[in-house]
Amino acid sequence: MEPTQEFRILVIDDEKSNLMVLNRILSPEYTVFTAKTGKEGLERAVADQPDLILLDIVMPDLNGFDVLTTFKKTPETMKIPVIIITGLSGETDEERGFLLGAVDYITKPFKNPIVLARVRTHIQIVHQIRTIEQLGLIDGLTNVPNRRCFDDRMALEWRRAAREKNPVSFLMMDVDKFKTYNDTYGHPQGDVLLKSIAKIFSAAAMRTTDLVARLGGEEFGILLPDTDLAAALIIAEKIRSGVEAVRIPTADGKTITTVTISIGAVSAVPDDKATVQEFLSAADKRLYTAKNTGRNRICSED
Ligand code: GH3
Ligand code: MG
Ligand code: MG
Repeated sequence: MEPTQEFRILVIDDEKSNLMVLNRILSPEYTVFTAKTGKEGLERAVADQPDLILLDIVMPDLNGFDVLTTFKKTPETMKIPVIIITGLSGETDEERGFLLGAVDYITKPFKNPIVLARVRTHIQIVHQIRTIEQLGLIDGLTNVPNRRCFDDRMALEWRRAAREKNPVSFLMMDVDKFKTYNDTYGHPQGDVLLKSIAKIFSAAAMRTTDLVARLGGEEFGILLPDTDLAAALIIAEKIRSGVEAVRIPTADGKTITTVTISIGAVSAVPDDKATVQEFLSAADKRLYTAKNTGRNRICSED
């Protein structure tokens, strides 16, 4: 990416010398603005909507962990990535930072090129997410790619698999008895559930080339390039058992809900005759076999 100063970074640190150094490293490529206290940082982040935040932990007023917690609770700032940059180097501090939602953790004294490299990485991710959002390829509820995005990538990966004579696999998932779930707990709770299971899918599909998508309603797909059926079935079982194990409380906290999914799994090394449509409809058929034979299971045979 060309440095255009288009992306804006907020640096929150009580130490004037740190602010100066970070400003010097970052300002050739980015628009940098600073805050000297946690409170000022919170205000500026809401008002100025930076693309990335660098956050110190030890500060005299609010400490960085509290600031981060507030960022993640505030609608205006919850999606802004935060890199913690701090003198605290204990493992638990680092873990705490990640648990609170930081995307990265840099310890002081830092090396200038490392800071710049990590900032570039996260700005690049911001840039990619924004491009995808602008193209209308992300599902608004679950934040995973939508059907349109899936269709494009599926076509591309199908051609690539044919060319490279590599297997490509696909898992098609549908929530079991979701109508009953909605009827019992309400549609908003159904939405909460869809968001939670989308996270389980995303966590299981770990390669950058894997693609989780919401194909419609309560139906999801995972495209697994360069993956054979045996490997795809391991992922399928991971998500099946992962969803089965999840306990989602209702908004009032009074009831713990559970749910299961059924999965149709297919894998192929595409040849000249095979089409994407046949591949996807085979997955659909297997999904319905999984439904008809008891649900909460994976079907990988016709
Ligand atoms: P099966 O096990 O056979 O899949 O049964 P099912 O009840 O899950 O299937 P059915 O297709 O009858 O019902 C799907 C339900 O999913 C009905 C619809 O209201 C619900 N649904 C679809 N999209 C959404 C959504 O975005 N949010 C919520 N809360 N519900 C949705
Ligand atoms: Mg269903
Ligand atoms: Mg359905």
